[in-house]
Amino acid sequence: MPKKTYNLNQAIILFILAMMLSTIGLASRDIASLSLFWPCNAVFLGLLIRFTSLDKPGNLLVLFFGMLFADLCYGTEIGVAIGLNVANIVFIATARWVLLTRHFNRTRPRRLQALLHLFPASLCGAAACALVGAFISRHYFDDQLLNAWSSWFSEQMSTSILLLPLVISLPRRDQLPQLIAVLRDSSILPLLTLLVTIAGAIWLGGGGSLLFPLPALLWCAISYPLFITCLLTMMTGISEIILVAGNVLSIQGKGYLFRIDSLSSARLGVAAMLISPLIVSLSTISNKKLVARITRRADYDFLTGALTRSGLSAKLDLLVTGRNRPPCFSGAALVIDIDRFKDINDTWGHAAGDYVLAKTAECLRAALPQSALVCRMGGEEFLILIEGIAQPRSLLLANRLRRHVERNKVLFNGNDLSVTVSIGISALNISNVNSLDESIMRADEQLYIAKSSGRNQVRPEFVL
Ligand code: GH3
Ligand code: MG
Ligand code: MG
Repeated sequence: MPKKTYNLNQAIILFILAMMLSTIGLASRDIASLSLFWPCNAVFLGLLIRFTSLDKPGNLLVLFFGMLFADLCYGTEIGVAIGLNVANIVFIATARWVLLTRHFNRTRPRRLQALLHLFPASLCGAAACALVGAFISRHYFDDQLLNAWSSWFSEQMSTSILLLPLVISLPRRDQLPQLIAVLRDSSILPLLTLLVTIAGAIWLGGGGSLLFPLPALLWCAISYPLFITCLLTMMTGISEIILVAGNVLSIQGKGYLFRIDSLSSARLGVAAMLISPLIVSLSTISNKKLVARITRRADYDFLTGALTRSGLSAKLDLLVTGRNRPPCFSGAALVIDIDRFKDINDTWGHAAGDYVLAKTAECLRAALPQSALVCRMGGEEFLILIEGIAQPRSLLLANRLRRHVERNKVLFNGNDLSVTVSIGISALNISNVNSLDESIMRADEQLYIAKSSGRNQVRPEFVL
């Protein structure tokens, strides 16, 4: 019962909203022609995507009747009103279908995915709506079919791109404090530049002037949260359309504010357009560098330069999946542990222990083939994976490593802190996610035997 009441309330609110938005659109309608600006379709499409509870076929009917009612009150003839509003519903239904079709909607959350597919969705919605609209315009207003279609199409497309991102990215109430906090830390310069370029466009005029704000808009997009960017793009778009419609921004002929010749205006506009991809490209490059830096921090241990566990997983994933062969990585796993390392910490301090760790890792790497994967498992324990190595050679290599560390002089503040290592070896055959852990466990068992047999020795799981 409460659910039904809620739905009725929802329907009433939608009906009133449809009437109000239609009235805005109707106010911009020329006599016997189409509206200059019809916000209904884009706003409702955004709401259906934003609020899943609204996304019901019944609500499309409510919207239809809301818009129809407003049209009739405005004095539109009933046949025309029905036709125009069928075209509106066709836009909403088609674009909604493209935005939320299962093909597009597999992995991404609804809103994000909707933003990504905004362009194809608006294109399809506008094209379908314009088709219905063009026939109505021809039937009732005797318009030429192609002209009517392009007029409907351009209006629907531009209004949709203007309004939809804003409705879709509208922050929830609990996201507002974070948005305000981010804005407080943001520079005002991109916004000021945007205002200056719009003023410049009005001042200079000409066809190119429409492009003047483009670099500033991109700067805003890089600097501000998504919702603010959507708000600024919408306001810039609407301002430009209103300014051009009111001839305040004169884009052709000798308007009263048209101060430079059309070629100069076009040149400046083209310059603004050309600098924009550079801004995007530079921003993308710096993002990639940042991601690479963060990945490096997560994948490599700061102290020893060895891979972390997650770094090793990522590397193995790449090695196993990146080749044209069955997913498999076989060879040997060596688990290496520094002997009596705690004594170094206890005697010489933690900094000395850190130094010994770094030097031991360096010494191990120097004695290993380049392709070996060296990972710090934690504390003073390292895991080394060597691909394609036979068992006898892995034993020889492990002994070479052990001797190398034993002979390696580690001097810290004049004190000799040289260490030895114990090594357990197991065969490695990574064909599934568990096989690495199993190999490590078996090598660990051998390491335990090496430790209990006196340390500074190598124990393989196999017998030669
Ligand atoms: P065993 O020969 O049996 O391996 O003895 P051990 O002393 O090497 O092993 P134990 O596990 O008793 O001690 C390891 C010590 O390593 C304890 C811990 O404080 C120290 N350790 C772990 N991580 C770090 C680190 O990042 N820096 C330093 N300085 N010490 C560390
Ligand atoms: Mg140890
Ligand atoms: Mg240990």
